[in-house]
Amino acid sequence: MGSPGEDRQRTRSCGGRMCVYKQRGDAPGFAWDAGARDRASSVGSWAARMTLRIVGEDDGGKLFTPEEYEEYKRKVLPLRLQNRLFVSWRSPTGMDCKLVGPETLCFCTHRYKQHKTDLETIPQQRPIDLPCRVTGCQCRAYHYVPLNGTQPIRCRCKHFADQHSAAPGFTCNACSKCSGFHSCFTCACGQPAYAHDTAVETKQERLAQGKPVGQDVPYAAMGGLTGFSSLAEGYMRLDDSGIDKNGKGW
Ligand SMILES: [Zn+2]
Ligand SMILES: [Zn+2]
Ligand SMILES: [Zn+2]
Ligand SMILES: [Zn+2]
Ligand SMILES: [Zn+2]
Repeated sequence: MGSPGEDRQRTRSCGGRMCVYKQRGDAPGFAWDAGARDRASSVGSWAARMTLRIVGEDDGGKLFTPEEYEEYKRKVLPLRLQNRLFVSWRSPTGMDCKLVGPETLCFCTHRYKQHKTDLETIPQQRPIDLPCRVTGCQCRAYHYVPLNGTQPIRCRCKHFADQHSAAPGFTCNACSKCSGFHSCFTCACGQPAYAHDTAVETKQERLAQGKPVGQDVPYAAMGGLTGFSSLAEGYMRLDDSGIDKNGKGW
């Protein structure tokens, strides 16, 4: 998978009409027509960024046609606004030590946006499991794991998090003595990683705890992010204040 920096670069450098549907390195080639190039200068990459955030990974790597995109918006957006899930990594103290965003890596090494993040109905049981959608990945539920600086954290078996299976049980692929990933890495809150939980909650559940929910937004895989420091700068600049400082909405 590419780094967040790469994603951003791709989005930024993209000035064409096709970006409105999605541009990625592995997408089928797009033939420019003169009109598209003209319109591109007025549409610019701002529209492209907006649409990338709405579609997320839902086009499965194939570009939506304009009709498919309209259909997608009609079907998915009302659902998304109603069933938005907030994802955070919670300390036993009740503090959200990490707000999971679209690019945040799961234990399975895939990003939050690569998991199933739009549910047609909110299940009754808790926790809510958000499985990975990457083909062949055995991850059944998004599970945040912190980094130690830029390094994966270590299990008590001494192997790194990403050396473990993403299948339930999280056993180690590098040794036979591991009974499942368990890390004593200490979070900034003072509690060990293993004592934290990945919390997946509805807006109502967040509000009941007095936690921020921000504004309703149409973007895919927003996870726990609730605020924008600058909408035009894209979600790399999202903050966790719950306040849209520019007051632009969407
Ligand atoms: Zn996963
Ligand atoms: Zn995965
Ligand atoms: Zn282990
Ligand atoms: Zn091991
Ligand atoms: Zn913590």
